[in-house]
Amino acid sequence: MALVVQKYGGTSIGSVERVRAVAERVVETQKKGNKVVVVLSAMSGETDKLINLAYQIAKYPKERELDMLMSTGEQVSIALLSMAIHELGYEARSMTGHQARILTNSEHTKAKILAIENKYIVKELDKGKVVIIAGFQGIDDRGEITTLGRGGSDLSGVALAASLKADICEIYTDVEGVFTADPNIVPEATKIPTISYDEMLELAGLGAKVLQTRSVEFAKRYGVTIHVRSSFSNEEGTLVTGEDEKMEGVLVRGVTCSKNEAKITILKVPDKPGIAAKIFSKISQANIMVDMIVQNISEKGITDISFTVPKIESARAMEVIKSVADELGIKDIKIDDKIAKLSAVGLGMRSHTGIASKMFSALADVGINILMISTSEIAISCAIDAKFSELGVRILHEVFELGQGKETLLA
Ligand code: ASP
Ligand code: MG
Repeated sequence: MALVVQKYGGTSIGSVERVRAVAERVVETQKKGNKVVVVLSAMSGETDKLINLAYQIAKYPKERELDMLMSTGEQVSIALLSMAIHELGYEARSMTGHQARILTNSEHTKAKILAIENKYIVKELDKGKVVIIAGFQGIDDRGEITTLGRGGSDLSGVALAASLKADICEIYTDVEGVFTADPNIVPEATKIPTISYDEMLELAGLGAKVLQTRSVEFAKRYGVTIHVRSSFSNEEGTLVTGEDEKMEGVLVRGVTCSKNEAKITILKVPDKPGIAAKIFSKISQANIMVDMIVQNISEKGITDISFTVPKIESARAMEVIKSVADELGIKDIKIDDKIAKLSAVGLGMRSHTGIASKMFSALADVGINILMISTSEIAISCAIDAKFSELGVRILHEVFELGQGKETLLA
């Protein structure tokens, strides 16, 4: 008998009909002889609605109260699904994060899971019940309700799968899996049957929206195999799992583009030791993540430095730099929030050269200027003008032959 964790996202349970459809899928899974634990998000749009209410009442609502409020969305879904399963004549029991003993630290709105005391879940499973657990929420050591950050029910699903040693963690969504590129941009994008944790992490971190990044990190740490698939069809989706040798044979697994960053350029900075250290330590003290950094060749002892930060933090980053500007003799700071970060990801890059040059030439051929470049072991990213982001994705998808399963294999 296998143990299956099924996590359903908001669109999968967005209406009464959808809740019924999910109830049927859950029951089918159980009828095949599996124990089933279901983890749910709030119905689509509900969490946003709740947050919106909070900000109509208060400019700075207390985070404890935000958690109290946001956690109600998932409570609605678990109760409704449990009822729908009862209506089909099967046994189910809904549980909040508290009842399922999902223990977290006390960082309201972005809590970390510390442990799951799963004996209550196991007890219900042993009675033949489907156990339905509210995603996104937990409880701290004082009994306070916490939430895990937006998209956190993916993490709840993976953590429960790890704790219960489930055979598989199925993450149901409204797309058929992870694609070689966003199919809305590249119609010939293909579904990736199997992808490694590291590639998925790069893709998730770089803008692919299917899975929450933290849930993939967690799955990697505990070796949980994730099956990302659609609740609207019976097609197999994408397996996110550990590496095997075959995976290294694929040069580029996917192409992605994110518009979440802004580029800040500091002009005429004195080119002497300690300046970059000063600027970037101030920014890191403000807890702002810097991604790409470029410093120009200096002329007459002055230089320019450009770097990217998350768009939502760019205003704060500007404030920080302005606060040290005088001290460093900085007069001119520019910000450009119309940039996009275009990336190609693939395990094969570890052992093979020539991918960067192929990427740069492809962009040059269509007249896309590269503003900045950054690389990791398995990804190459270029900052480009945001208006070229769709074109950039299409071109890279084509040169790396990702359409129709034609991934660039190593010779
Ligand atoms: N309902 C929460 C959110 O919208 C958690 C989730 O859906 O994963 O962020
Ligand atoms: Mg989600």
